Amino acid sequence: MRRPMVAGNWKMHGSEAANSALLSELEMRLQPEWPIDVAVFPPFVYLAEVVRRLRGASVGVGAQDVCAEPGGAFTGEVAGSMLRDVGCTLVIVGHSERRRWYHEDDAVVARKFGAALAAGLTPVLCVGETLEEREAGMTETVIARQLDAVLAMNGVATLAEAIVAYEPVWAIGTGRNASPDQAEAVHAFVRRRIAEQNATIGGRVRILYGGSVKAANAAELFSMPDVDGGLVGGASLVADEFHQICAAAAASH
Ligand code: PEP
Repeated sequence: MRRPMVAGNWKMHGSEAANSALLSELEMRLQPEWPIDVAVFPPFVYLAEVVRRLRGASVGVGAQDVCAEPGGAFTGEVAGSMLRDVGCTLVIVGHSERRRWYHEDDAVVARKFGAALAAGLTPVLCVGETLEEREAGMTETVIARQLDAVLAMNGVATLAEAIVAYEPVWAIGTGRNASPDQAEAVHAFVRRRIAEQNATIGGRVRILYGGSVKAANAAELFSMPDVDGGLVGGASLVADEFHQICAAAAASH
């Protein structure tokens, strides 16, 4: 049985005051005994403070991005070792907003994935198709290309230490989530693709769904056999919504 996970991607939102209020509310509501992993992904500048704040709580902290290089003359970038240094354990790589607005291609994402692992971080690898790609019947082709780039550069064994997030681009921040059947079809495809190279890892890897997950749709999405929880954007900024999504994940176990 794979342990469900709920990951809250705060994107470029927050302030010291807002983060503190959100974390206080979450700490009151989240039940440490729930059989799930919960993590939040604040912007870089708040990571150290959020780690300090959550010390002793059963909530992990991750970054939203990492530099592909281990360190050096790369102004504005943040190395994986620095994220580890301030207490992060996870990092998102290949989010569609990074792919789209910062032109991160599959090769860069694969290098970031490797850099995260080299620094001792668990990468959360995002894959997903655009609406045009889905409508052209290319969903599996696109997901396979994104996944294969990581597998080819890093090897299938690295997936044992990673999490995959299926995030259809057309569902992110749009209020239009994939249906449970649409999500399940892609999750099963991702699992099969990994299992073709290593059946054990394919069976064990956690695959999160992301794209307009809310309290109202979490339970039906998480009830699908290959959906192991969610990567949640907007709803992770609302304590009651996020708490209800975590409760749905716990109930799906
Ligand atoms: C995301 O940021 O990864 C995401 C899925 O956002 P939202 O839940 O707001 O669609």
